Amino acid sequence: MTHKIAVLAGDGIGPEIVNEAVKVLDYLNADMGLGLEFENGLIGGAAYDETGSPFPEATITLTKAADAILLGAVGGYKWESLDIAVRPEKGLLGLRSELELFSNLRPAILYPQLADASTLKPEVVAGLDLMIVRELTGGIYFGQPRGIRVLDNGEKQGYNTLVYTETEIKRIAHSAFKIAQKRDKRLCSVDKANVLECTELWREIMDEVAKDYPDVELSHMYVDNASMQLVRAPKQFDVMVTTNMFGDILSDTASMLTGSIGMLPSASLDCNGKGMYEPIHGSAPDIAGKGIANPLATILSAAMMLRYTFNQSVAADRIEAAVNSALDSNVRTADIYSDGMQKVSTSEMGDAVVNALKAGV
Ligand code: NAD
Repeated sequence: MTHKIAVLAGDGIGPEIVNEAVKVLDYLNADMGLGLEFENGLIGGAAYDETGSPFPEATITLTKAADAILLGAVGGYKWESLDIAVRPEKGLLGLRSELELFSNLRPAILYPQLADASTLKPEVVAGLDLMIVRELTGGIYFGQPRGIRVLDNGEKQGYNTLVYTETEIKRIAHSAFKIAQKRDKRLCSVDKANVLECTELWREIMDEVAKDYPDVELSHMYVDNASMQLVRAPKQFDVMVTTNMFGDILSDTASMLTGSIGMLPSASLDCNGKGMYEPIHGSAPDIAGKGIANPLATILSAAMMLRYTFNQSVAADRIEAAVNSALDSNVRTADIYSDGMQKVSTSEMGDAVVNALKAGV
């Protein structure tokens, strides 16, 4: 069986970091006979420069035919003055909506070797391993009506609408319960059901869907409490599921618990498990082309791809263990470097992960 991966390197450090993730996947593919096939495509500023569009037809066709997408990042100074309709970021939004990638998985993992990088006390965050599942294509960011209007008294009023249908809530609920089943089987649904009817429905449907997953323990938490608990005692959580806006905010808080943007992967899935996998950081134009970017977030995104789209959890575990082993050997890219460590380049970090795999991890 073959698995088709569309590789979209994008802009800035995108090509450098994606190169390392493909290097790791290539090694495992040969070692474990995973049947992975890669095809490159253009997105973002690189696509605009070549075709006049940040999300060209050829890329739409390629990504629709693929089983999974590995993305670097898009954007950069060069394209900032372009009309918003053709800015690199439009390519990313186009990809998400074209493929209906409604379930956004953002893990926050703190590697013990990097515990000092967090702004929180090591004992609060050491061993942190939580997953936030954010609804990505609905809620207040997309609800109609929206806009800014002038009232009868001449005052301006801004308004947005928080809406979720039963179908939208059910599909994110199923996605989150399935993820919890692959982890510690604890799911915390975050809402504001005491104030917002829309999330009262959210809570009701979470309870209903829970009946299909008796092995997963479901709890509920109001978003204000959840934001406090994330900073007070983040290790109490296994999987959190929440709306688009709450997830946007909570996942950024969670990512900063780990202190390092270059370490965190993400996935955006459709209802069949097809997904786009990318690091949470951007294209880092300030360090592009210097060979110093940290490729680990992208390598860990590749591990998520193996776990969530291809159901290859052994291969995914191997990548995660190899990253651990590379950190144990004290190699560090500049963003996670501290005294006494060995500073390495982007490709040397990729090599360290491959070498750990070769050594039998
Ligand atoms: P950024 O994440 O690109 O960079 C923030 C800071 O973190 C920079 O100092 C950068 O050098 C550093 N950094 C990021 N990734 C790193 C890595 N792997 N290794 C080492 N250091 C790393 O965010 P920004 O500067 O706000 O945005 C730059 C561009 O990226 C913008 O055009 C923005 O629109 C775009 N962007 C794209 C995505 C995406 O493609 N998903 C996400 C966020 C931002």
